[in-house]
Amino acid sequence: MGVKTVYEDCDILVVGGGMGGTGAAYEARYWGRDLKIVIAEKANIDRSGAVAQGLYAINCYMGTQWGENNPEDHVRYARNDLMGLVREDLAFDMARHVDSAVHKFEEWGLPFMKNAETGQYLREGKWQIMIHGESFKPIVANAARNSADKIYNRIMVTHLLMDESKGNRVGGAVGFNVRTGDYHVFRAKAVIVSAGGASHIFKPRSVGEGMGRTWYAPWSSGSAYALSIQAGAKMTQMENRIVLARFKDGYGPVGAYFLHLKTYTQNGYGDEYESTWYEHTKALVGEYIDHQPTPTCLRNHAFIQEVNAGRGPIHMVTREAFQDPRLEEVGWENFLGMTVSQAVVWASQDIDPKYINPELTTSEPYVMGSHATCSGAWCSGPEDLSPDEYYWGYNRMMTVDGLFGAGDAIGGTAHAFSSGSFTEGRLAAKAAVKYIRDLRNENMNISDQQINDFKQTIYQPLDNYTVGRNEIVGGTVSPSYLLPIQGLQRLEKVMDEYVGGTSVNYMTNDKLLERGIQLLDIMEEDFEHLGAEDLHQLLRAWELKHRLLTSQSVAQHTLFREETRWPGYYYRGDHMKLDDENWHCLTLSRRHPESGEWEMEKAPVYHLVD
Ligand SMILES: Cc1cc2nc3c(=O)[nH]c(=O)nc-3n(C[C@H](O)[C@H](O)[C@H](O)COP(=O)(O)OP(=O)(O)OC[C@H]3O[C@@H](n4cnc5c(N)ncnc54)[C@H](O)[C@@H]3O)c2cc1C
Repeated sequence: MGVKTVYEDCDILVVGGGMGGTGAAYEARYWGRDLKIVIAEKANIDRSGAVAQGLYAINCYMGTQWGENNPEDHVRYARNDLMGLVREDLAFDMARHVDSAVHKFEEWGLPFMKNAETGQYLREGKWQIMIHGESFKPIVANAARNSADKIYNRIMVTHLLMDESKGNRVGGAVGFNVRTGDYHVFRAKAVIVSAGGASHIFKPRSVGEGMGRTWYAPWSSGSAYALSIQAGAKMTQMENRIVLARFKDGYGPVGAYFLHLKTYTQNGYGDEYESTWYEHTKALVGEYIDHQPTPTCLRNHAFIQEVNAGRGPIHMVTREAFQDPRLEEVGWENFLGMTVSQAVVWASQDIDPKYINPELTTSEPYVMGSHATCSGAWCSGPEDLSPDEYYWGYNRMMTVDGLFGAGDAIGGTAHAFSSGSFTEGRLAAKAAVKYIRDLRNENMNISDQQINDFKQTIYQPLDNYTVGRNEIVGGTVSPSYLLPIQGLQRLEKVMDEYVGGTSVNYMTNDKLLERGIQLLDIMEEDFEHLGAEDLHQLLRAWELKHRLLTSQSVAQHTLFREETRWPGYYYRGDHMKLDDENWHCLTLSRRHPESGEWEMEKAPVYHLVD
């Protein structure tokens, strides 16, 4: 195969230069002045990841210096929203450091909205502060660029390398340049995975002409999970997918509307509906329905039930707030700063929210560890906070030595958002530097065989296409290969129908999950025959393989947890109630790297904050 191989040896490799990755590069330089720090990024760090288009609010800021919130308050908030289950050590650790990250953003030039008299950041809600955030990503990318020795843009990282001199230690990563096709081998003493969450594993509401219009970034392909799973890292809470109530068709955010504009929802007949479902929800989850604020999943639950009862669509009442010209401006600006497409959808559908209350809908499920849910890798917490079971030497290190994570990659730390993910990157990098110092000059062994085997595997879809392309029986249908788009649609369909997507109203059970897992396993065999006609399709092929592994993990976890912990995110029809007696715990999985067998276990959830 005539592919050029490019080697890069470094101390710390950051995989994915989004919020977590840029934070990691920045902090790694601070503690590791003499270390070689490299970023490998699938897109271009200036405009990559979930923050690519910008944000209107930083969703996680304590404001401790202003006496607003303390880290403990944030732990209570996240725990409540996640029906009792978060990693409180990780959540506290992130919360105690997040303000300093936000202050850095301001120092680097990010414009914040402020109270003209006190200088305080303007709050959208208890945790959110408002920014003019179109330039957010280039600003943090600049900090990373000033810190890293080298940034490789356009590299799709496909696998992690393992150190063969020692079992269970990472040795770097491999991937390919999506423009030149070069094979890239990064040998590294520590790897920080911050490659984002997963969209497009469940069938989106928008298909056909609207395909690609999803809430979560369509390019978030679950790489953070797949890379870690392939290496044998333990995962946690992968069943804890998120479903968002958002403006219909454009997935425009509702936070600023609820919190700042004080808009509210009503059913298709103009009635308040959440209270209608109070007793019903109480019967499922007990006193959790009385918690304040009402957990997000339970608000979704009322929404879904109301629509099922035939009283949809659900509307956001904007007509009152938009009479105030200042609020009207904020409402539009909110989209122009981060979801321009929602403004375009309204314009194209003749919706002026000043006169028409726009529709909301519930999204397809996504998997991520930094937004409002907890999916991700099981990692060590900080030494001063974590109980024994949560601590094995280095903060944010996974169960594979030398492998760290940040942002969506890490499980248990819900409600970190952009600022918390950046902070987690900093925490992971600080620990990774310590890990490298502790290694001293210990040798690593990454054989040519390992490197060559991955090379063969990575480019196989190009060969499959080249060999099979003359056998096309009609259009794009081939007896010898499957195109990535065909594979993606098959994956989304199985996840949707068997693992609790929109077309089944988020419902599943043990029988459906068992069958779904079988179908995913068959798909894994079929995906050995993916065909890629060019480098872009090769990228799509590997994104799809990462999505499949992520999906298998989600399905296994969903089967393992025999309760409905988060009604409104998904339902186990065979265990419709929340079951604190048996399931007030975290779920863990490990996929054996060679056999592909999944092992599931429970881990205790420690409440460190009262
Ligand atoms: C729609 C939406 C709205 C949001 N709104 C807000 C908000 O208003 N306020 C707020 O504070 N937070 C918000 N967030 C949350 C915030 O964007 C995320 O918490 C944060 O970006 C997560 O950081 P991360 O580093 O884990 O992932 P990302 O920032 O997404 O970065 C992942 C990076 O990895 C790269 N990558 C992926 N796969 C590979 C691979 N195989 N090889 C190499 N590189 C790879 C990607 O290109 C990307 O650069 C929002 C998120 C979404 C999706």
